[in-house]
Amino acid sequence: MTTPLATPPATATTAATTAPQGGPALPQRRELRTELPGPRSRELMRRKQEAISAAVSLTMPVFAAAAGGGVVVDVDGNSLIDLGSGIAVTSVGNSAPGVAAAVAEQVQHFTHTCFMVTGYEGYVAVGEALNALTPGDHAKRTALFNSGAEAVENAVKVARAATGRRAVAVFDHAYHGRTNLTLAMTAKAQPYKTGFGPFAPDVLRVPTSYPYRDGLGGAEAAARAIDLLEKQVGAGDLAAVVIEPIHGEGGFIEPAPGFLPALAAWARAHDVVFVADEVQTGFARTGDMFACDHEGVVPDLVVMAKGIAGGLPLAALTGRAELMDAPQAGGLGGTYGGNPIATAAALAALEAYRRDGLVERARRLGDVMLGRLQELRRRDPRVGDVRGRGAMVAIELVDPATGAPDAALTGRVLAAARRQGVVVLGAGTHGNVIRFLPPLVIGEDLLAEGLDVVADALAAS
Ligand SMILES: *Cc1c(COP(=O)(O)O)cnc(C)c1O
Repeated sequence: MTTPLATPPATATTAATTAPQGGPALPQRRELRTELPGPRSRELMRRKQEAISAAVSLTMPVFAAAAGGGVVVDVDGNSLIDLGSGIAVTSVGNSAPGVAAAVAEQVQHFTHTCFMVTGYEGYVAVGEALNALTPGDHAKRTALFNSGAEAVENAVKVARAATGRRAVAVFDHAYHGRTNLTLAMTAKAQPYKTGFGPFAPDVLRVPTSYPYRDGLGGAEAAARAIDLLEKQVGAGDLAAVVIEPIHGEGGFIEPAPGFLPALAAWARAHDVVFVADEVQTGFARTGDMFACDHEGVVPDLVVMAKGIAGGLPLAALTGRAELMDAPQAGGLGGTYGGNPIATAAALAALEAYRRDGLVERARRLGDVMLGRLQELRRRDPRVGDVRGRGAMVAIELVDPATGAPDAALTGRVLAAARRQGVVVLGAGTHGNVIRFLPPLVIGEDLLAEGLDVVADALAAS
């Protein structure tokens, strides 16, 4: 009655053991064998509709059978160009050989003890590595969790425990997750917040820096935010300022230079904990190990997840030792947080970032993307803005006459590009941003081809 899943092409499994470290194991090309979605994906979509909550929706109605390098191969044998990395997760590649080997090795020994019951070295080693990698050379401590949202929640817990203050400041266009507290911190109603309140109190939202739309310099934008914080809550009641150094879901909004340093300096002067949510920007993505490194900003706490472990579920909170040690013993933790398979994967992924020079690689991919997209903007005034750092680049589509966001056009372009076999994601509070997050191991030819498909989709839309 149900169509069996296609087995991945033989090359997927045989090549995986022989591919160079970090190198792609699958044929690196776009190839459509069926229309998209093909018959096997359609059958799985039918089963998904019967079995899975309709609230869990798919960007593309396509089911994966294998992925690696810059491609995702679906159950119908179609090979798609991956410009999404599963939302900035598989930066080191999908089933990256080092990660796959570390997972296979760890699973032979033990799969779980709960770190709060019996310790294991992998958890400690990930903590040591993150303490060394994150910005600043002060004494640090780390705690591990399962998801970005969970780590953001724990950043707020730590800030409140350390300061004894109640309020948390967040920004327009922010995305911090889907749990109750992080929904209070997330800006966008649809689809994230609508119908799910009431939300956690004591979250104050202030304007961010959005140079394309507000035209403000970094210092001015910071002064605007700080003025509201001082008037509406007061530094004495403010536990933390939580900000994505580049807003991710909000549309890859890179603040004007000086904005983050000014906010961080104000927080420091008032003993407010400055928290960088680097869940999407972290781990080489922006052409620095962390986006805060770009302007030398040293956060008190750094929240990490997505790119940390090559696709295994892991998140981390790293920060000043005196803050991280402030909550009572047993106050932080969780059953699965820092699972040994996930920490083994993280150590392998961190090694891949270093060994394969992926910070440099992200910069190179960024040059390729910005070059092509700026050319596209010169040809087509509907591309209102091209922005980004490293391999975190986006275009904003607008009505050229008014500059108004054009979500309908964006939807048509995304749909057309996906039909042609490119996995590409939208973003933006107004739904008019196309974001590019290729795996850092993608070939430049494949990346260029993916961008050409998007450009052709725009021309035809
Ligand atoms: C994805 C994301 C989160 C939430 O991470 P989950 O693992 O989905 O809970 C939080 N902050 C930012 C900036 C994100 O991009």
